Amino acid sequence: MAHPLYPNLLSPLNLGFTTLPNRVVMGAMHLGWETQPGGHERLAAFYAERARGGVGLIVTGGIAPNAEGCLAEPGSQLATAAEIRNHSAVVRAVHAEGAKICMQILHAGRYARHRRAVAPSALQAPINISKPAALTAEQIERQIFDFVRCARVARQAGYDGVEIMGSEGYLINQFLAPRTNQRTDAWGGGFEQRARFALALVERIRAAAGPDFIIIFRLSMLDLVDQGSTWEEIALLARWLEQAGVTLINTGIGWHEARVPTIAACVPRAAFAWVTARLKGTVSVPLVASNRINMPEVAEAVLAEGQADLVSLARPLLADPDFIAKAATGRTHLINTCVACNQACLDHIFGGRTASCLVNPRAGHETEYPLTLAPRPRRLAVVGAGPAGLAFAVTAARRGHTVTLYEQADQIGGQLNMAVRIPGKEEFAETLRYFRHQLDLLGVTVHLKMPATAALLEKGPFDEIVIATGVNPRHLEIAGADHPCVLTYADLLVRQQPVGPRVAIIGAGGIGVDVALFLTEPPPTGEPNRERFLKRWAIDISGTRPGGLKAEPPRQPRPMRRVYLLQRKPGKIGASLGQTTGWIARQELHHRQVIQFNKVTYEAIDDQGLHIRRRGERVCLEVDHVIVCAGQEPCRNLARELEARGLAVRLIGGADQVAELDAKRAVAQGFVLAMEM
Ligand code: NAP
Ligand code: SF4
Repeated sequence: MAHPLYPNLLSPLNLGFTTLPNRVVMGAMHLGWETQPGGHERLAAFYAERARGGVGLIVTGGIAPNAEGCLAEPGSQLATAAEIRNHSAVVRAVHAEGAKICMQILHAGRYARHRRAVAPSALQAPINISKPAALTAEQIERQIFDFVRCARVARQAGYDGVEIMGSEGYLINQFLAPRTNQRTDAWGGGFEQRARFALALVERIRAAAGPDFIIIFRLSMLDLVDQGSTWEEIALLARWLEQAGVTLINTGIGWHEARVPTIAACVPRAAFAWVTARLKGTVSVPLVASNRINMPEVAEAVLAEGQADLVSLARPLLADPDFIAKAATGRTHLINTCVACNQACLDHIFGGRTASCLVNPRAGHETEYPLTLAPRPRRLAVVGAGPAGLAFAVTAARRGHTVTLYEQADQIGGQLNMAVRIPGKEEFAETLRYFRHQLDLLGVTVHLKMPATAALLEKGPFDEIVIATGVNPRHLEIAGADHPCVLTYADLLVRQQPVGPRVAIIGAGGIGVDVALFLTEPPPTGEPNRERFLKRWAIDISGTRPGGLKAEPPRQPRPMRRVYLLQRKPGKIGASLGQTTGWIARQELHHRQVIQFNKVTYEAIDDQGLHIRRRGERVCLEVDHVIVCAGQEPCRNLARELEARGLAVRLIGGADQVAELDAKRAVAQGFVLAMEM
């Protein structure tokens, strides 16, 4: 019988030799544990928890078929039977929970960050410092041999199948596109030659692994780079892949070197499902849609509209291992939604760290923080319902403590309430929804509009007092800092004070950039978000342009305001932003014609505007408002008062440390303290 809420998402799929319990594929994510000591035990716990939460088919992070295919050194590869033991531990853990698991085979090609990188042609990637060596014909055969060996060993390790990573600009994709394949032998030239490598892999893996082995091919359906594949080529390749024996075709969107956002928060939900839909009817194997499908209703709509047969969720399952179980039992409101920030997952991986999740810091740390009750339940007071206080309160309550949460504002959320107002950060509203329901479910006593005093907390009775009182915007120390034209970012975003058409922003950190984007956001046109997004990034939907980008760059909008974004230090504006999303913000500032000055000295503010010194000259920026985004000061008055009364307090979040504070650190700190209490 069809599920009453999600009849498509939660319906089984018969693959002939095996049946998947639902339409969710957990997409491949690099987690960084593969090469760490004890990493496979962590991975086993991580994947087993997702399997327990209802995922039917898991795809692991990319494993290279040989040393040259590794993304970095040391990299994770599967080449010999000696490496089976670690993989088997992961497979057994997933199978014990009743799910299936495929291993992704990823050959980095020219994206490899080491000296052994190889590629179809010796062309350096714009995002890499290493230049690859061009493969000889003999070496190409060797790569194919290694892929097949990798798949065979994966089968021996117990995997139910493999996903062949043919997208995102990695080696197979490099063979497919003229951008990276300039060969003149049998592996380059016309499309048939460029596709030979991909097809040889599938044919030979199918022959080696047998008919009852899942082979997923992650096909780059939209390269988003110049000289990429044409739609005609992509559709042709899909047909050839089907003939070669693939079980499923998964969707890949955008090469890593593409300068178009594909999974960041500014990408509307399911914004690329139309690409998968375009392939429907061309092949009869099931198709998997991907990218920014982060809630069950979004996934259900993609499937109900017939855009795909399955959906791939990667980061949403990092954020909530019980995503499917919650959807299946009518508890969608309890899902901890991925907000597409990339801050604890992709930014960590690109920075050489292990992946976790901003909204779920337990992700990747399941073995360190088992879900057990506290040995000694206590009465805990938490002051401040920002990200740190909320994370502490719900984690502590989940562990059996009795928690009372005080918040002086009339709503929970603290700085998250500002984030939701920033264009592209609206997903944080889901985090607020999640916390609201968790507080309720876990029986946390919440006092809103109640500034907790030292006397009240002393009377308690509480066993522990946790101070998460957050931060206040830093006050400027220049002449005219109290001029009526001066506002803090909180005046703008929380108190919603109006500002004029000419604005100077002091401070170009994360908040200064956010404020600049907020002030220059084009007004709604009535056009759906997806269409606006596709136009903004000049994505061709006609299928006629190789790589899927329009010939003309996107048209710049008429500036909404004249906005100056200023910083004192040298270096580029927005340098402190996350590695995987900072470039989007910088492009957007440029696109919206925000005037950016570094090496500025602030001199005074008066009726004329903001007086600065720049390049040795005094200049007056004639603006209507000056918005101060110059960092924060911790709010510790209450903590000091309590300490003066001899009460011990625990400080978390901005009240503890403001330098480089962000929601990721605040949530993680609240979570860890609650797990240790
Ligand atoms: P921030 O990133 O530290 O930036 C504040 C900026 O103000 C500094 O870059 C500094 O630049 C300037 N400044 C500091 N003291 C000043 C003073 N006395 N007078 C004038 N300018 C001064 O802090 P934030 O923008 O408030 O952000 C707070 C935290 O949230 C940061 O950790 C940030 O990374 C995080 N956040 C992240 C994002 C994101 O997208 N990832 C978005 C929002 C916030 P100069 O000294 O060069 O002038
Ligand atoms: Fe999603 Fe951000 Fe968590 Fe990554 S860190 S899974 S993008 S919420």
